[in-house]
Order: sequence, then structure tokens, then C-alpha cells
Amino acid sequence: MARYTESVCRLCRREGAKLFLKGSRCYSKKCAFERRPTPPGQHGVRRRKVGDYGLQLREKQKVRRTYSVLERQFRNYFDAADARPGMTGENLLRLLELRLDNAVYRMGFAPSRAAARQLVNHGHFAVNGRPTNVSSYQLKAGDRVEVRESHREREPFKVAKETLRSHQAPEWLSIDAAKLSGSVLDQPRRDQMPLDLNEQLVVEYYSR
Ligand code: SF4
Repeated sequence: MARYTESVCRLCRREGAKLFLKGSRCYSKKCAFERRPTPPGQHGVRRRKVGDYGLQLREKQKVRRTYSVLERQFRNYFDAADARPGMTGENLLRLLELRLDNAVYRMGFAPSRAAARQLVNHGHFAVNGRPTNVSSYQLKAGDRVEVRESHREREPFKVAKETLRSHQAPEWLSIDAAKLSGSVLDQPRRDQMPLDLNEQLVVEYYSR
């Protein structure tokens, strides 16, 4: 599958916001956006006037890049969100939050979504007892995610076991640090998704 392989810190500088794509580094002084909060490239510091379309496009890219989803897949998420009852923007974020890689990250098994995706792709997780290595797997309320029993002594999970004890998962998830597992208690509401994103601009972008 195609994937973005350039520096992810460029994406934060491009979007003018911290997207938290690198785990603990994002919270340290080494964060590239903290050190140079200007768009990347030779003309990055030039001041440009941004119109409505520009704002909508940037917000769409911000959401897409936060979850590391490619353009086509993101459009598919939008269409699925639009077909559901309720607010399209909130539906879109909910679908993205319920991806398996995002839930693994939110539960605290990995320091970033990219790391969570790699752990899922390498087959370390099971959903409802069935090994699952599809990072885009859509979870639903009641699903249980766990590190597969035979993988629990591997290095990333020895570390996770310690960090999980102090990890604060969002309200719609529960975690059991001792068993290296977690559950989806409910579908996340907008106020339970800690995201500095304006999903309405994404809806406007696709409604042009
Ligand atoms: Fe973005 Fe994290 Fe890089 Fe900072 S360290 S620029 S928040 S990916």
C-alpha cells in the first residue's frame, strides 16, 4: 500500500499546527514545529492571503494527516459519514477514531498512531479473540482489543505495561493494564474526541 515516507514534521509545519505524529518527541523541546513554526520550503515564511477554499483545504489535510489516511481512503470515509444519520463532520471523526490503529494509540499501547499502525500490521493484536492485522479495521461498541497472548512478553509491551498504568484513555475506552487489553465502551461523541480540528470546514470542502 502507498504511504507517506517523507519527514512527518514537515506536515505539522505545513498545516501550521502540531499534529502529534511522533510520540514523545512531540511533547519535548525537540519538536520541529516549536522550533520553526513556519511552512516548509524556501518561500515558507512569505505571508499569503488565504481564502475560504484555502482554509477548507488546509483543514481537510490536517484531519487526513492526523490519522495518516491517504486521499482516496479519506474520501471514502467522508462518503460513509455523509450516508449516516447525524452530523457528517462528527460522523467522519467517529469513523476515524474507531479505526483499530487509532484505538490502540488512544488506549496507550503505542506512543503515536504510526507506531500503533506498525504494531497492528505486525500482527500483535486480536479483536474479540481473533488475530487482526488490518489497521483500518472498524471497531464498534463492545469490541475488545488485546495484545495476543503469545506476544505479551515482547519488548514494546513490556514498556507499555508500565506506561499504561498512568495512561488516561478517553471516556469511550477502558483499559486493563495487567491484561494488556482494552474495550470500546461506546461510540465516541464529539466532546470525547480530544482534537483541535474544525470538521465543519472539511464538510464544506467536499460540498463545494
Ligand atoms: Fe509535529 Fe511531533 Fe514533529 Fe512536533 S515533533 S513537528 S508535533 S510530528
